[in-house]
Amino acid sequence: MTETVVTRFAPSPTGFLHIGGARTALFNWLYARARGGKMLLRVEDTDRERSTDAAIDAILDGLAWLGLTWDGDTVYQFSRAARHREAVEQLLATGGAYRCYASQAELDAMREKAKAEGRTRLYDGMWRDRDRATAPAGVKPVIRLKAPLTGETAIDDQVQGRVVWQNENLDDLVLLRSDGTPTYMLAVVVDDHDMGVTHVIRGDDHLTNAARQKQIYEALGWTAPVFAHIPLIHGPDGSKMSKRHGALGVDAYRAMGYLPAAMRNYLVRLGWSHGDQEIFSTDEMVSAFDLPQIGRSPARFDFAKLESLNAHYIRQLDETALLAEIEGVLPHVAQGAELAGKLTPALRQKLLAALPGLKDRAKTLVDLIEQARFVYADRPIALDEKAKALLTAEARKTLAGLVAALAPVEPWTAEATEAAVRSFAEERSIKLGAVAQPLRAALTGRTTSPGIFDVLATLGKEECLGRLQDQAGLAAVTSDARA
Ligand code: GLU
Repeated sequence: MTETVVTRFAPSPTGFLHIGGARTALFNWLYARARGGKMLLRVEDTDRERSTDAAIDAILDGLAWLGLTWDGDTVYQFSRAARHREAVEQLLATGGAYRCYASQAELDAMREKAKAEGRTRLYDGMWRDRDRATAPAGVKPVIRLKAPLTGETAIDDQVQGRVVWQNENLDDLVLLRSDGTPTYMLAVVVDDHDMGVTHVIRGDDHLTNAARQKQIYEALGWTAPVFAHIPLIHGPDGSKMSKRHGALGVDAYRAMGYLPAAMRNYLVRLGWSHGDQEIFSTDEMVSAFDLPQIGRSPARFDFAKLESLNAHYIRQLDETALLAEIEGVLPHVAQGAELAGKLTPALRQKLLAALPGLKDRAKTLVDLIEQARFVYADRPIALDEKAKALLTAEARKTLAGLVAALAPVEPWTAEATEAAVRSFAEERSIKLGAVAQPLRAALTGRTTSPGIFDVLATLGKEECLGRLQDQAGLAAVTSDARA
């Protein structure tokens, strides 16, 4: 039987789930999914100063939003400190580790000397073979790995290829601090081993850690997992990613109105490719994803591409699903409060009717919420500057005439209102556009909207006549004031 694939996502809860972390989680999730394996979640909360519950919540929430589910219970690294110490006890017993009593002054001197001699191995091994009986009184030792002095340490990385380090350049790293707390390097190895992790897929900022971790695996007599170190994400100009480039938490992307499906599709293509395919359903990415197709050079973040993918996914959703996405995002976007406060079954029906005319133009859910405002705006509706400019005294008179022309229309359908508006225009020898534009401005407060007769049908008779009267009525006030 082949071994079950077990991957893990191991975030440090010192901040939100950023875009690089989300991509790492996605890759781990996809790799496990495709192989009938498991993805585990380990919260690396050993840095007690910087880890916060708010960050943990943000990470779990971000993963849930992206649809990246993990198997089993979340493992909290800090809670496993006793087990980490136990592994060190095992190493001490077998001679794979030793107590080091070097003072800070001695360590500083070693560092200076190594620097002067151009060596990267800083620790000179003074306590490697020394008898504990000679230890200075009252000093609590750290425990160091008794790393090999010669030979090499290598990994066959699934992305980077074979990576080799000369052992003479690697220090005897600290496994337990003098206060007995485990170091990060030790904790990762013990946890990955105990959790049965077979594949470690993570950012290539951890590549040099892999050498250290490999040495710990070997000392403990454990098999190291397969490693895949993914190049980091850079900004569009190739420089280090900054906030301006999109180095934000995934919650920020939700608040900007991106769909999880679009995010997943965007993220999967950041550094991974499958021929020249750009659009991947979740099932397609699960079956196509593999490690060798991850590129070795950093991916570049491209907002325009994310936007166009998002527009694609918005267009593709049916109205019911799209409305569900809109409703889901309302608490997370600044523009959502008004609509959230008004959502009744009747308004939902109107939105469903309006969405086909809106969704082709929207890049984000926030665009959609804004463009659908005419559906949920209260009378008298606010006009934008262009709409105001369009509603001249002349245009407002046309609106007054339209109220009379539309009042008898029954049933109130797009076709029936169109027929009434057309004959109104013909009777007065006005171009249809000269009627439709003020009509649009009065009904939507804007100069662009879905097809105007669809707008009429969506809003319903009473609301349309009311909005027209609101604007036609203002015309009277304005001309009186001028007179
Ligand atoms: N906790 C580490 C980080 O957030 C990841 C460690 C690992 O994947 O091995 O960068």
